[in-house]
Amino acid sequence: MSRGVKIPKCKKNSITDKIIKYPKPKFVYIPLICQNDINITVLVKNGDYVYKGDIIARKRGNFKIPIHASVSGTVTSIIEKPYLNGKLVKCVVIKNDFKERMSSTIVPRKHINDYTKDEFIDKIRDCGIVGLGGGGFPTFAKYDTDAKINTLIVNAIECEPYITADYMLLQEKCEEILEVIDAVIEINDIPEAIIAISRANTKTKEVINTFIGTYLKIKLVEVPNLYPMGWERTLIKEIKGITYNKIPAEKGIIVNNVSTMFAIYEALKYDKPLIERVVTITGEMIKEPQNILIKTGTPINEIIESIGGYKRFKDIYFIAGGPMMGTSIETDEMISSSNLTSVLVIRNNSEQEAIECLRCGKCVDVCPAKLSPVLIINSLETPEKLKSLRPEKCVECGLCSYICPSKIKVRDFVIEGKKIND
Ligand code: SF4
Ligand code: SF4
Repeated sequence: MSRGVKIPKCKKNSITDKIIKYPKPKFVYIPLICQNDINITVLVKNGDYVYKGDIIARKRGNFKIPIHASVSGTVTSIIEKPYLNGKLVKCVVIKNDFKERMSSTIVPRKHINDYTKDEFIDKIRDCGIVGLGGGGFPTFAKYDTDAKINTLIVNAIECEPYITADYMLLQEKCEEILEVIDAVIEINDIPEAIIAISRANTKTKEVINTFIGTYLKIKLVEVPNLYPMGWERTLIKEIKGITYNKIPAEKGIIVNNVSTMFAIYEALKYDKPLIERVVTITGEMIKEPQNILIKTGTPINEIIESIGGYKRFKDIYFIAGGPMMGTSIETDEMISSSNLTSVLVIRNNSEQEAIECLRCGKCVDVCPAKLSPVLIINSLETPEKLKSLRPEKCVECGLCSYICPSKIKVRDFVIEGKKIND
């Protein structure tokens, strides 16, 4: 398995003095989707008054994750809005009354380690905590296992270019993050925790080292500044020298993103559901790149306007998520959601037109999932051959597109192969 590739990180612009807040959307559009599953039961109707943190919908089937109101106000309708996967998704529209009235079901606790394992799992499920690194997998499900967990890895690598949300959060909330890591390993009887950061990230190393001294079971580990080092499989192999079949728990490991850890902190301490997150808004066409704490369901165009808008609104395009794994979005009317890590606004570059494949094999060399992307492209019309090439193993890291000298959108073709094989 390739350890990864060194790519330009372009993070400087969005690193500022502090995370700013965007607290006042007139309307929020709460997306009725969970990990790309729209199998959701809506629990409110037009005209209902909802408190901030009230459960307004719940996922059906596996992992019955609740979806919460991110503001207090009145439900006005259910309409479709653009979502980070580029598709329209049904959303519950809440007219904000700006009173920030909290749900009466919310009961804060004094000590975050004052939970049994079962209470902990119930709490993070009921607060709707999902992976904030972009995956959106329900976090409680990782802990709800009979497997003996020996290591919690806190993933603070953020290896995608441009994105700095985790970086900024660690600068501001390092003490809280260490406190919750300590509590989580105590509650779940996990002997050690490792915070993984990129070797290039000296400032984060400094801040963690300032506070880590009293936490004897938490270690800081630096890994090479390569992409996709933040991918679970690459990271575990790098740190532990271990590979696994389906999930890391098979080998006694749980991996949580650092922003997810902070969401767990707020759930344990304040009983706060996942109703907001830090999002990086950046790219060469944004006047003032920032990291912003955004309520779920806030339209992205409102946010961009609030930070000074675009340098130019012509010949630009949007990427939801990072440039490697993200999705191109046609409109800035997209709404924010818990798995939206960043919005990138960049220049439309017509020089990027693809030419014929050179058969250089670079896409094969870099693929961390050991696939042959070029062969997958050539087999999209021959189902039997495609099946044997296993495109479903693709983790959508985008390295093949990045490395391709012919500028072919290799990843998109592999994803097409994945869908055909589904
Ligand atoms: S996008 Fe998929 S096929 Fe391309 S390098 Fe990443 S894992 Fe391999
Ligand atoms: S990297 Fe691009 S040009 Fe090279 S083999 Fe793969 S698809 Fe063809």
